Amino acid sequence: MTETIAPPQATPIHHWIGGKSVQGTSGRSGPVWNPATGEQAGVVDFATVEEVDAAVQTAKETFTTTWRAVSLAKRAELFFRIRELVHQHHEDIARILVAEHGKVLSDAMGEVARGLEVIEYACGIPTLLKGEYSEQASGGIDVYSIRQPLGVVAGITPFNFPAMVPMWMWAPAIACGNTFVLKPSEKDPSASVYVAELLKEAGLPDGVFNVVHGDKVAVDAVLEHPDIAAVSFVGSTPIARYVYETATRNGKRTQALGGAKNHMIVLPDADIDMAADAAVSAAYGSAGERCMAISVVVCVGDVADPLIAAIQERLPKVKVGPGLEPGNEMGPLITREHRDKVASYLDGAAEQGATVVADGRELEFEGDGFFLGVSLIDDVTTEMDAYRDEIFGPVLSVTRVATYDEAVGLVNDNPYGNGTAIFTRDGGVARQFQFDAQAGMVGVNVPIPVPVAYYSFGGWKASLFGDRHIYGPEGVDFYTRGKVVTSRWPDPATSKVDLGFPQTR
Ligand code: NAD
Repeated sequence: MTETIAPPQATPIHHWIGGKSVQGTSGRSGPVWNPATGEQAGVVDFATVEEVDAAVQTAKETFTTTWRAVSLAKRAELFFRIRELVHQHHEDIARILVAEHGKVLSDAMGEVARGLEVIEYACGIPTLLKGEYSEQASGGIDVYSIRQPLGVVAGITPFNFPAMVPMWMWAPAIACGNTFVLKPSEKDPSASVYVAELLKEAGLPDGVFNVVHGDKVAVDAVLEHPDIAAVSFVGSTPIARYVYETATRNGKRTQALGGAKNHMIVLPDADIDMAADAAVSAAYGSAGERCMAISVVVCVGDVADPLIAAIQERLPKVKVGPGLEPGNEMGPLITREHRDKVASYLDGAAEQGATVVADGRELEFEGDGFFLGVSLIDDVTTEMDAYRDEIFGPVLSVTRVATYDEAVGLVNDNPYGNGTAIFTRDGGVARQFQFDAQAGMVGVNVPIPVPVAYYSFGGWKASLFGDRHIYGPEGVDFYTRGKVVTSRWPDPATSKVDLGFPQTR
């Protein structure tokens, strides 16, 4: 949506190009809401094709004239400074997230902490970029491999992790020697600009990190720009597919992470209280607006009734309210439209034959914030909309099956394959699940198995387009390309013409 008239109190949010704030010239902008009050708090510039080009040209020039030649030692030193500054401003960033995204402060602190882990991993870039060397691969010949940066790379990010997901991209990309253009979500863009200021303060040269705000116009300009070598995208599956197809058609290396429908299987031998705690935490944390949220609990055998009772017992205790009020555990949803769409699944599920055990619409809130209470739906079957769609809100579905095989079948038949989890006390079955599950991230008694920073994050099937996962070792791979050097230093006196194909001797 583009709003031309913003309320006077709305803070303008501009692009960040070449180390400074740059006001947009398109005359197009978008509203940034405070989801806890329902008021428009900001107005963000939407970039034109020319403004995206300005950011790319700055990034390109900086890559060529400056960043490409900066030593690993200096890059590592700089990343230690970045780490310190982000750490120092941890809560400031978290408060920006609360203001524009709505998540509660403790959750926002957790988001920044997980982003910091990726920055810390990037501090080890000299070790991560070590190549291989084979002395005397052939007589008098040595062979070695190096990895080099791609040039200008871009990131396009979703609303639900406005600080962490950009960190998944820019930290490894810049540490690997690339310059970066970020197009953050237009719904909560301020954290990216704030972090850009911190990067400058840390001493990152102007032009290495740039931010352009906007909608499809800016995204398409990125996807089609001839000087962008690679694109990382995180967002919904239809846009991920579009980004992957468009960017690869334009010759770019692309990783596009999409949506999810994460199943948590609970076996009859599971500890009921532990499984109920995990389901409630993973379904309703961040109001369910996480790509790793648990959306479906699959109850095997007779576990359903006691588990639902245990979940139900916990629901009234989940404190829902503004993110800065101490004690609140769940904030509002991102927009009014999204809240209403999420709520509509409750009517839909009832009409399609499911049982609405808890209806979040019954919780009353003061003011005009985009709140919805926690909801639980039982007897959900695979043809229902509540099962098929990624609801992306505080709605947990329960599906009942008779056997482990049926439960795994649900996970594997689902078009998404981001995360999945199993709750059991049986190590053998858990190991079998790890073997069977068609998903990129598996939790064993862990409901949100987001990998630590020195592994890589990514789903399978419609949850990821591209062949490399994000951050960790695969992130370093994604943002670099390999080169193999074959060298010899013979005595020129031994030189002769030899038209045969080079053979090892
Ligand atoms: P989204 O797909 O609507 O937006 C993501 C980005 O794409 C934004 O920057 C947006 O401006 C841009 N965009 C939106 N519509 C576009 C269009 N028509 N053309 C070009 N660009 C467009 O996603 P969202 O609502 O911001 O985020 C929620 C989604 O992201 C959920 O589906 C969630 O599962 C997914 N997500 C996935 C992961 C993961 O790691 N797999 C992580 C976080 C979020």
